[in-house]
Amino acid sequence: MKKTVSTWMIIAAVLASGSPASTQSQSPTDRTAKYLESARNSPVALLDFLERMPKGGDLHHHLTGAVYAESYIDYAVEDGLCIDKVAATLSAPPCDAAAGRVPAAQALTDFPLRNHVIDSWSIRNFVPAPDDRDVRHHFFAAFGKFDPVASKHWGEMLAEVVHRASLQNEIYLETMLTPDQGEATKLGRTLEWNDDFAAMRSRLLSGGMNQVVADGRKNLDDAETKMRAILGCDGAAPDIGCGVTLRFQNQVLRAFPKEEVFAQMLAGFEIANADPRVVAVNLVQSQDEYRALHDFDLHMRMLDYFHGIYPNVHIALHAGELTPGEVKPEELWASHIRKSIEIGHAERIGHGLDVMYEKDAPGLLAEMAQRHILVEDCVYSHELVRGMTGEENVLPIYLKAGVPVSIATDDEGIVRSELTGYFRRAVEGYHVDYPTLKQMVRASLEHAFVSGASLWVAADNFTVVPPCAQDMANPAAPSKACSALLASSEKARLQWKEEAAFGKFEAQF
Ligand SMILES: [Zn+2]
Repeated sequence: MKKTVSTWMIIAAVLASGSPASTQSQSPTDRTAKYLESARNSPVALLDFLERMPKGGDLHHHLTGAVYAESYIDYAVEDGLCIDKVAATLSAPPCDAAAGRVPAAQALTDFPLRNHVIDSWSIRNFVPAPDDRDVRHHFFAAFGKFDPVASKHWGEMLAEVVHRASLQNEIYLETMLTPDQGEATKLGRTLEWNDDFAAMRSRLLSGGMNQVVADGRKNLDDAETKMRAILGCDGAAPDIGCGVTLRFQNQVLRAFPKEEVFAQMLAGFEIANADPRVVAVNLVQSQDEYRALHDFDLHMRMLDYFHGIYPNVHIALHAGELTPGEVKPEELWASHIRKSIEIGHAERIGHGLDVMYEKDAPGLLAEMAQRHILVEDCVYSHELVRGMTGEENVLPIYLKAGVPVSIATDDEGIVRSELTGYFRRAVEGYHVDYPTLKQMVRASLEHAFVSGASLWVAADNFTVVPPCAQDMANPAAPSKACSALLASSEKARLQWKEEAAFGKFEAQF
């Protein structure tokens, strides 16, 4: 997969030949930008360039959607489960071949079955059929099919995703999961709804929430311990995935009954408040589900309430994950993005697909730019799962409006891609140039929910702060003042590491 430097240099030399030799006066970023333009129409050179490019952080990443179907088959085999040959659902043994429920091990070597399972657990080879008409429904249905193994193999799953992230020159990953594995939902089910949020909260806190939080943290401990063991992070030859800084977002299933959503939110804020690995709360599930739409305003009020109690817990929200025709137009006009920011306190927005249909879209875009609300843009997933291609794709809209954007994968396993492929779509599909790609990579770390002061003077103004301003040329030996900043801030350390990587990358052009 990785090409040698010499191969790289040959490609660079071939592409550079024929262009005027006035490159000495240009900055490394300018030269790199020029190279990308020359490589734009050469798929081999472009992909090689993008593979090597530093990519910062993936800020919108669902753990269960990021793992590939082949891995879930392995877990099902390990767990001794059965697979339904038609529905591709998993069940506990004993299997019953006559009823079509065969041992999962059969999906290792029975090639037609293996292909059927992979296609069912992803959007690979999707073709509309009478009982499976919509790629988006096929996409969401996949989660339910591999669910029996997804909650039992977090260690292996984390090892897979951080390794893949590092292979693509990512240094940071925020992944969404439910630390308590559904305990908060069960606790919420025991509650009767009460419009008094404070009363609801105290009943949950005195009724078992402490145990939910403790169990959730223990689940993360176990997962990280296993991940580190698989990757050999404490041994002599650690896997490259060990170098990725990993953080979690506590996801809340927004299509559930309101008392269960409330309990999940409380668990999320409590865990994030107590555990530095859990940096944010996020609402997930298809936004066009009944309760996600019907209770939307209530959910925003809940977030407003919890934000008042836990102001240090970050909030990122799936917002505007709706497309024309999918819902009534009134839902597109219902200001889901604006309310997520203004009432729900979202610092970052995932997807934001329906932004141009919101009331006063120009005003909303200006507000997002002014307040530095980052959009986690899953450009390739938007094309494949949502049909948002050409003029409907929102990436150029946000970029043009000056809204900070980072490219994120969403569900790279189910979509059968990886972050590099998303970068490629941005370049090939929307004419994004190198300075813009670099800006999005920097934005991914600037808006990452890691603690500490930034390396930059102001939000989305990528001018180095005074203590480090003279140190960029030699990142390996920062001055005393710069070292002090780096020692005090995890965010600045990540940004410094990335700038050093950019320095090395750009020096090749
Ligand atoms: Zn998502």
